[in-house]
Amino acid sequence: VRILIIGGGAGGYFAAITAAELLPKAEVTIAEAGARPLRKVEISGGGRCNVTHACFEAKELTQAYPRGQKELRGTFSRFQPKDTLDWFESRGVRLKTEADGRVFPVTDSSSTIVDCFERLRKELGIDLELNSRVKELVNEPTGGFMATVIKGKKQFLNHYDTVILASGSTTKSYDLAKALGHTIEPLAPSLFTFKVKDPRIENLSGLSVEDAKVELSVTGSKKHTEQGPLLITHWGFSGPAVIRLSAWRARELLASNYQAKLSVNWLPSETRQSLEEKINTLRGNSPRKSVVGTPAGKVPKRLWQSLALQSGISKEINYSELSKKMSVSLASELLSGIYQISGKGVFKEEFVTCGGIRLSEVDFRTMESKVSPGLYFSGEVLDIDGITGGYNFQSAWTTGFIAGTAIGNSIARQS
Ligand SMILES: Cc1cc2nc3c(=O)[nH]c(=O)nc-3n(C[C@H](O)[C@H](O)[C@H](O)COP(=O)(O)OP(=O)(O)OC[C@H]3O[C@@H](n4cnc5c(N)ncnc54)[C@H](O)[C@@H]3O)c2cc1C
Repeated sequence: VRILIIGGGAGGYFAAITAAELLPKAEVTIAEAGARPLRKVEISGGGRCNVTHACFEAKELTQAYPRGQKELRGTFSRFQPKDTLDWFESRGVRLKTEADGRVFPVTDSSSTIVDCFERLRKELGIDLELNSRVKELVNEPTGGFMATVIKGKKQFLNHYDTVILASGSTTKSYDLAKALGHTIEPLAPSLFTFKVKDPRIENLSGLSVEDAKVELSVTGSKKHTEQGPLLITHWGFSGPAVIRLSAWRARELLASNYQAKLSVNWLPSETRQSLEEKINTLRGNSPRKSVVGTPAGKVPKRLWQSLALQSGISKEINYSELSKKMSVSLASELLSGIYQISGKGVFKEEFVTCGGIRLSEVDFRTMESKVSPGLYFSGEVLDIDGITGGYNFQSAWTTGFIAGTAIGNSIARQS
């Protein structure tokens, strides 16, 4: 039996290893277009590789996937983060969970994961063909596929009984699936930061607020809210809350050319009333204190200063001189300041592409194509992507495991 895995990334390796463990006699080949395998694993999580997220309840876990939520529900009941932890630990990789739920190798180095995969690949006799790009894939009349592989200046034609497409979000490779009858959902980048040029945050680069609430309004979609750490950068806003917003509205943001409005609540634990009460208390107890220099809520002092100045409160004004109009304007800035997003920035730790193989064309019990039997999918090639925090690798491990297992079981049944 000959199995071809197109793509030597997370999804491809996990599927290949799973299939090879079940089928010791099968000829398993990974064709990788690049000069090295597992490139994204290597650079992932800022070089630490955030392998998964410690969320062990399938339904809750699916909430982290803007695309693929419904389809992943069943797959996570078969292979979820708990299984990922067991899988790596039982293969010699020790993992640790950080306070926010992200899971990393204890070595804090992605090479631990790459080395584990490479060791297993070699032990299982999986062939790795580097610099080998699969250019064409056609159904054979007698079953299986004929693959055209380009290696340097040479071109090879090989027959395979089963193929797993694990080519990630490489645009060209979608043509392989298209030619076999698949539909590709439009592609759009996900997991990015927002460019905002605004005097309120201009000199605050590097400042972060532990708990902020951000609401995104973009043409063509409902408002979406996230809460969590918010970071002010040289070019605008970053941090988990913003990155998650970018994932939930990835398509609409692309369509709007990254023009949108962001409402920021720097003090979600306060109501307008409780904030006004705090300001009034300072008015009564510390009338001579400067408003700009004395925050009434739990926000970093520099941020308070900037927002107060932008609300028209000059440095000289003390609490006894603070007018009603000024305090209303300051409370609005703190609880619902509106910022104009003017572009997309980079998030170096993780990014993915949304879009890919249409999910209704895939049988999620096996990850086999409903359009072209014998063709399976694993990883980001599918129209599945998660928010930041290890969810993207988790969907690659899960789909790779299911594809590898289904192939293993189906071939074992036949022989
Ligand atoms: C900088 C960065 C950091 C990230 N960090 C994290 C993280 O910490 N945690 C997390 O969960 N996710 C992270 N991600 C997302 C995660 O890396 C991807 O979701 C995951 O790698 C997808 O795996 P994949 O195997 O489907 O695709 P890929 O890793 O993209 O692998 C696909 C492979 O297929 C090859 N290929 C494509 N076409 C062909 C062809 N025709 N023939 C042969 N080979 C082909 C490509 O060269 C590539 O090597 C990060 C992404 C980036 C870019």
